Amino acid sequence: MMGQSGDTAVAVPSEGWNYSPAPERTRPEIDSEYGLFIGGEFQAPQSDRTFNTINPATGQRLSRISEASEEDVDAAMAAARVAGPKWARMKGRERGKYLFRLARRVQECARELAVLETMDGGKPIKESRDVDLPLVAQHFFYHAGWADKLQWAFGGRDVKPRGVCGQIIPWNFPLLMAAWKLAPALACGNTVVLKPAETTSLTALHLAKLMQEIDLPPGVVNIVTGAGDTGRMVASHPAVKKVAFTGSTEVGRRIMEELAPREVPLTLELGGKSANIVFADAAIEQAIEGVVSGIWFNQGHVCCAGSRLLVEESILEPFVAALRDRMAQLRVGDPLDKNTDIGAINSSEQLDRIRALVTAGQEEGAILHDVQSTPLPEQGFWFPPCFFTGVQPAHVVAREEIFGPVLAVMSFRTPEEAIRRANTTPYGLAAGIWTDKGSKIFEIASRMDAGVVWCNTYNQFDAASPFGGVKESGFGREGGLQGLRAYVR
Ligand code: NAP
Ligand code: MG
Repeated sequence: MMGQSGDTAVAVPSEGWNYSPAPERTRPEIDSEYGLFIGGEFQAPQSDRTFNTINPATGQRLSRISEASEEDVDAAMAAARVAGPKWARMKGRERGKYLFRLARRVQECARELAVLETMDGGKPIKESRDVDLPLVAQHFFYHAGWADKLQWAFGGRDVKPRGVCGQIIPWNFPLLMAAWKLAPALACGNTVVLKPAETTSLTALHLAKLMQEIDLPPGVVNIVTGAGDTGRMVASHPAVKKVAFTGSTEVGRRIMEELAPREVPLTLELGGKSANIVFADAAIEQAIEGVVSGIWFNQGHVCCAGSRLLVEESILEPFVAALRDRMAQLRVGDPLDKNTDIGAINSSEQLDRIRALVTAGQEEGAILHDVQSTPLPEQGFWFPPCFFTGVQPAHVVAREEIFGPVLAVMSFRTPEEAIRRANTTPYGLAAGIWTDKGSKIFEIASRMDAGVVWCNTYNQFDAASPFGGVKESGFGREGGLQGLRAYVR
């Protein structure tokens, strides 16, 4: 099957059409151990404790990461506090230059960073290469542009930074979430202590190396790695003047309780159980692609994943049949292979969670459709894309966030029923509407309890467009002018 090797390989079809594997050949340099990034330097943790970060597609160790203790978090906070006044006083256009430089370095290193993201987190290379990394660079470019225009952003008012920001991010878009958090904070003149997720710290640490290269003043960004406890220390630290958290609703609630007695503004980007609503008059092929990307993008490890599908009853049967056919074509496997659609599940814990929820769905009587024909790799953590039909709104697969490649399909008869069903969830992050009728789009979009509504498309992001949820999906916005507001007084 293989022609030559690598990028220039020409696939010669033999029995059936199958692509030659074309695994990404770029290999980033991975250190055997990473310190904490404090005051512009990598430092050994005072606890001397480290933990492994693995490649979830192979189960193999990639490196050892430092676990920050209370003293380390104190040191990071102190470095951010010391760096604060000078960074805040710096002219906006000078701060902007640092962000422009960082954005350009991210572009220059995009290949290595994309491969590193895929190795550490399990997402397909075509996603980290074509979605994550371009958006990371875009976020730094976009916010670099705001750094010297803040008074125009806020109607001529003289705005001031808040000070030290504590930022905590999850594992599904590790570098992109770091960019979403860091770029607006820095543009507005704040300094930061960032805590990446335990399973995916590598790209944030490599971003720290780029910060060293561009001579970002020491202490402006500090990165403390570790588990949930390190995150708790960051969020509750007395030096922190603003907290931004992306992760589960459960942890978000805990942080909110902790901060309740203090006057620390909080942004929470939490979970979701978003619905794609497909009307009979929709362009069906496009809707299928939208539904597929809505739920099977990044193995379903997406907070705004379209994990519920509501289809108008008159087209339910053909739509489900088409969805099945499309699902059967998805390639699950080596995330570094450029043809892979669905990579590895991020961790064994997440795999266990997905399995438990799918088993619960089957026990409740929903029908599981799993048509993957390719065998799953033997090493690493994998879950085939699948969907459930025969789902009742009360079923666990219709209510709980699975955060995996599992779709719950339901039907509706009238637009009113579609609206009611879509909004029957404690979450409110996103929704998708598929119809040929513009008037229907406006009417239904205006009645969705969701922070983001996509119409005849799904999972589109832009640095200029605010993102965030309502209800138990959190509050506050990231991106756009709205996202800057959280970082100024
Ligand atoms: P998580 O357990 O809440 O973890 C998120 C981050 O918080 C991680 O860095 C985690 O550290 C840290 N953390 C854990 N316990 C903490 C505590 N008590 N105090 C402070 N920080 C703590 O969520 P996850 O499992 O990593 O991510 C999946 C969830 O994130 C899903 O519910 C998903 O919907 C949500 N999410 C939302 C958005 C959005 O924009 N709305 C985006 C992405 C993900 P460890 O990694 O070490 O546990
Ligand atoms: Mg990892």
